[in-house]
Amino acid sequence: MALSGPVPGSMTATPRRTIAWFRRDLRLADNRMLEVATRAERAWPVFVADPDLLGANSSATGRVAWFDANLRALDDRLREHGSGLTILRGRPEEALRRFAESVDADSVIAAADEDPRAIERDTHVAAAVDLTLVNDQRIVPPDVLRTAAGQPYTVYTPFRRALDAWVAADPDAATASADFDPGRLAPPTEVGGGLLPDAGDRPELPPPGELAANDRLRTFLRSDISGYRDERDRPDLDATSRLSPYLRVGAIGIRACWRAALNARQRATERDDVVLARGSATWQGELGWREFFAHVLLAHPRLATESFRTDYDTIAWVDGPDGDDLYDAWRAGRTGYPFVDAGMRQLAATGWMHNRARLVTASFLVKDLGLDWRRGESAFAELLLDADVQQNNGNWQWIAGVGTDAAPYFRIFNATLQGRKFDPAGAYVRRWIPELADLPADVVHEPWRAADTPGDYPPPIVDHAEARERTLARYRAVSG
Ligand SMILES: Cc1cc2nc3c(=O)[nH]c(=O)nc-3n(C[C@H](O)[C@H](O)[C@H](O)COP(=O)(O)OP(=O)(O)OC[C@H]3O[C@@H](n4cnc5c(N)ncnc54)[C@H](O)[C@@H]3O)c2cc1C
Repeated sequence: MALSGPVPGSMTATPRRTIAWFRRDLRLADNRMLEVATRAERAWPVFVADPDLLGANSSATGRVAWFDANLRALDDRLREHGSGLTILRGRPEEALRRFAESVDADSVIAAADEDPRAIERDTHVAAAVDLTLVNDQRIVPPDVLRTAAGQPYTVYTPFRRALDAWVAADPDAATASADFDPGRLAPPTEVGGGLLPDAGDRPELPPPGELAANDRLRTFLRSDISGYRDERDRPDLDATSRLSPYLRVGAIGIRACWRAALNARQRATERDDVVLARGSATWQGELGWREFFAHVLLAHPRLATESFRTDYDTIAWVDGPDGDDLYDAWRAGRTGYPFVDAGMRQLAATGWMHNRARLVTASFLVKDLGLDWRRGESAFAELLLDADVQQNNGNWQWIAGVGTDAAPYFRIFNATLQGRKFDPAGAYVRRWIPELADLPADVVHEPWRAADTPGDYPPPIVDHAEARERTLARYRAVSG
């Protein structure tokens, strides 16, 4: 399996007839895989519906539906160019080998995917066909950024400095837009339907596809990026980009986002616009976290199941039937803490949750309920449209205080104070918890203080102050 460098074209020989294998890069514009593939005389755009992958995601109906919607949007785009997506079914190594034989293709090109399961899949595929992987999902290819001691970074700030230096040294390699030759694309050889036989339960989805993703980015740049620094923590406002589901399926690429952030910062300097400068720098910082967590998991694949700080894997989490009851209440948005419950209900209804609510719901699961962070991680993996093992795992380990560069374990959010601070009028809570819609702002985050306790809303499932003490003891017991 060959991994080409960040600049497309570092393959040893140009293939004659190739398969352009789409995976998590469901777009035509700025797609390095497609740029390399369309240097061949003929390139067949293909997606492989892998029964193992679909089986592993069978309960993630929202995400599968989201993926399916984006596949269809990609197929529409390809058809505009006289091509179309061929959907192969079966194990990728088998399906691709057979298809390559049938169209007489001599190679397969794909974008590298560093999800541990994807790495395993690609190893099998590379044994069956000539597979070349190009770097498209991160800004920097793996193995490039290293500390002075030659190790992968485990702390964000120096990682970010190294990232910025790498981009500055070769901006084209890092952020140049990829182009492709539509004339080389072959028509589909079988009519590819969608991915799913039937819809099942699914949240309401955002508009799919790369055109919608680009619209979303444009809108954010036009109206929200300036206020991002001050308003990004407010789930009652629509102040973040909401690009994460699009980034997850590659309807937009990370380079396009990074470029947009750099351009916004440049504009801010030219206009001496301090607010835009702050907003765009802060947004770029968040994209930097995405890059950081991806590199961390790649360097330490064991983190998919273990804490970075292995001593914390001996913590005595609450389990058994008590743990199950607490978990069920958390997941159903019925903990009695409105800010937590609003977040979980937003997630169930839309497949997306605001970052501040993710932080508070995650902290609540680990530090108020005393449950293993991995239970929360897998609930998010099932429910989020943007669920991505690198970001999800990195953030859960961070909030649980067990990961690289993590928040210290004794920093414990108070869900009530968080609600009052970041949802001051209670609009977010009222939107997602109809039982609390009529409560005035001064008690909406503490319904137990209301004169009339809302009938169907539960009382707090734990006492925060007591839970906090239990958590500190639990962590201290293993951390010395
Ligand atoms: C417990 C927990 C689990 C999470 N799980 C995921 C996940 O599975 N997939 C996922 O994409 N994000 C995850 N996040 C990160 C973050 O909450 C979302 O990326 C963000 O809320 C998406 O909304 P947005 O696109 O409007 O973000 P914006 O605020 O507009 O940020 C732009 C982009 O930066 C990246 N980003 C922002 N914050 C983070 C962060 N903390 N870590 C890594 N990247 C970030 C995302 O790609 C995001 O789309 C998680 C956060 C927490 C606390």
